[in-house]
Amino acid sequence: MLRSESLPTSPEPVANGLTQPTFRDLLLCMRDWLDVQRDEATASKLVRALVSESITLSANSKGGQPPEFDAQELTEACDMPEQEDYEASSTKVKNANLTRYLESRRSSVEAFFEGQGFSHALRLKKLSPGGRHRARWLLEDYSIESNDDAAEGQPDEQLVEVLSDPNNQQIKYEYAEAGLVKCSFIAKPLLGKGSFKIRSVRGLAFGGTILLPALCVLLLAGIGWLHLFVHRPLATSDLAFAVLAILISWVLAKAIRDGWWLLSDRIAPASELLVSWKEAPAQLESFRAGDERVIGLVRYTATCPECSAAVELRYGEGHERRRLFGCCVESPQEHVFTFDRVTRRGRRVR
Ligand SMILES: [Zn+2]
Repeated sequence: MLRSESLPTSPEPVANGLTQPTFRDLLLCMRDWLDVQRDEATASKLVRALVSESITLSANSKGGQPPEFDAQELTEACDMPEQEDYEASSTKVKNANLTRYLESRRSSVEAFFEGQGFSHALRLKKLSPGGRHRARWLLEDYSIESNDDAAEGQPDEQLVEVLSDPNNQQIKYEYAEAGLVKCSFIAKPLLGKGSFKIRSVRGLAFGGTILLPALCVLLLAGIGWLHLFVHRPLATSDLAFAVLAILISWVLAKAIRDGWWLLSDRIAPASELLVSWKEAPAQLESFRAGDERVIGLVRYTATCPECSAAVELRYGEGHERRRLFGCCVESPQEHVFTFDRVTRRGRRVR
């Protein structure tokens, strides 16, 4: 759990160039910057924990080196389920792409620090000692002005490395299998512990959710057809019926289409009604378990290599409206990746 302490909400503004801000002032400013961020990336939670823990430790020790934390200490500070296991914590922190999170928002960070009267800002540094030693993260301060000069003459080494690496234009999807994603109480009778066999009572009920709407649409079409044989002046009720029938058919057709696409494409985004409100968007997937075909509530997610926000699956537009893409939740129209459920990899589309 995070150690909390009462701290002033905003550091005392320091006159530019006159007083050297203390490391603690910069940490408090960084915390204020994080407080005004509205994204829900895993990276932002981990950076927030790193800042909070650094503030706590810097209060106890005067001066000296900035505090360093390994992956497990960070997941522990966030109270994440991975906190018991170092390997799982390490994967979590690696996938969250902390460095990219702050790097992609550097202009925002520097503007905020300058707005608070600081000529220095904080950036993330990773120490990788290699061998059996654990990698450690820390926040280090740098001068915004000298960094600008360096950036003009010579591009930032870290940024060049990130942009030129072809792996940064590729993403790897993480998979939460059926049973790990909680369904809503409405979907509980159908999905049970997260999946059901197609050849079962539940499978029959699922088939019903496609067949019943199909029958309703047919019935409405039948009633419309019968109206052709009624010879009387057009009434307002006829028009109202026609509009209602078209609306209901349109909604039902979407339900039929989603069910059909799930069966033929093996995967479709699950409706929000099916997923617990605490969960991130999930998908329904049809897969083979032994001799049986099963439909389960699963989740494919990734971290955007551009801004470290979460990537979720959405349908494309136009002629690709049946194809699933990985879209970054912070910039869904710009940070777009392909999705392949077999290889669980994607490459940048735009
Ligand atoms: Zn992004």
